[in-house]
Amino acid sequence: MPRQAVLIDGKALAKSVTDAVADVAARFTAAQGRQPGLAVVLVGEDPASQVYVRSKGKMAARCGFHSVTIRQSADLSQTDLLAVVDRLNNDSTIDGILVQLPLPTHIDADAVLSAIDPGKDVDGFHPINAGRLASGDVDNPLLPCTPAGIMHMIRTIHGKDLSGLNAVVLGRSTIVGRPISHLLLAANATVTVAHSRTKNIEALAHTADILVAAVGRPQMVGRSWIKPGATVIDVGINRIEDQNLGTSQLVGDVNFDEAMDVAGAVTPVPKGVGPMTIAMLMANTLKAAEARVKREAVP
Ligand code: NDP
Repeated sequence: MPRQAVLIDGKALAKSVTDAVADVAARFTAAQGRQPGLAVVLVGEDPASQVYVRSKGKMAARCGFHSVTIRQSADLSQTDLLAVVDRLNNDSTIDGILVQLPLPTHIDADAVLSAIDPGKDVDGFHPINAGRLASGDVDNPLLPCTPAGIMHMIRTIHGKDLSGLNAVVLGRSTIVGRPISHLLLAANATVTVAHSRTKNIEALAHTADILVAAVGRPQMVGRSWIKPGATVIDVGINRIEDQNLGTSQLVGDVNFDEAMDVAGAVTPVPKGVGPMTIAMLMANTLKAAEARVKREAVP
């Protein structure tokens, strides 16, 4: 069967976002006499987190930001991590703070995320920013990066208004599932959130005009889950090892080849939602810097 779906190219889309961010950042730097500043904090040596943190640092530099990566050992105490956050909250060269998740299990991640200055919370996970989104306030500039990136991708297919469209979100995490459901609802989609306790999830997914898969289960969503012509956003990042060959590859939560046969538009893994997440982090840092300048200008 010939392939029919449109490939939503996250890498190209992300580049258009970061190019625009770099332009505005250059003007910000010229006007303010300082660069927008992003600090990324990494605790421990989780290999995937190290890759993400490196990419974020590189992209921040490419956007013309002042970029700081703070690496701490896995046995850092919660008190010491809170002291790092406090120092960054009070650092006038820093506009955005990101504490890379997951944190070691002896640290209460909620306590750390809540300690970040909400105005510097470029991940959008502080309870104030998460609460604003949950109460329908999508004008807050600090929307969580992955969901904001997903909406950007959906807009390339459906425009801003999703009236009349059914959206099904697979996954209810605070990082992806819940916030994307709020953004879809705010764009007038009719939204259903499914999770591990949902019955007949495959049939439910098949009702979706827009299907967002964020479960962390390699290629769970196959052909029979997808309504013909649907837009399929694959958030999952799963590493599959081939024991015989000693190799590994990244796959999403969606069977890409089957989705390309039946869907209307599909995001790939890699080069889909991942680059968009980083691009939106850059956009958030710039917005946080601009908002700070405005706040500090008020007498
Ligand atoms: P979580 O593990 O926090 O949440 C997974 C969700 O999926 C839960 O709500 C869980 O249900 C649900 N779930 C798990 N198994 C099933 C199943 N068999 N059927 C239905 N629902 C199921 O994951 P995240 O939301 O943090 O991440 C999801 C995926 O997205 C991961 O692969 C992650 O690596 C990737 N990711 C990618 C990003 C990117 O930038 N591309 C950014 C963030 C995440 P329940 O609540 O009932 O347990």
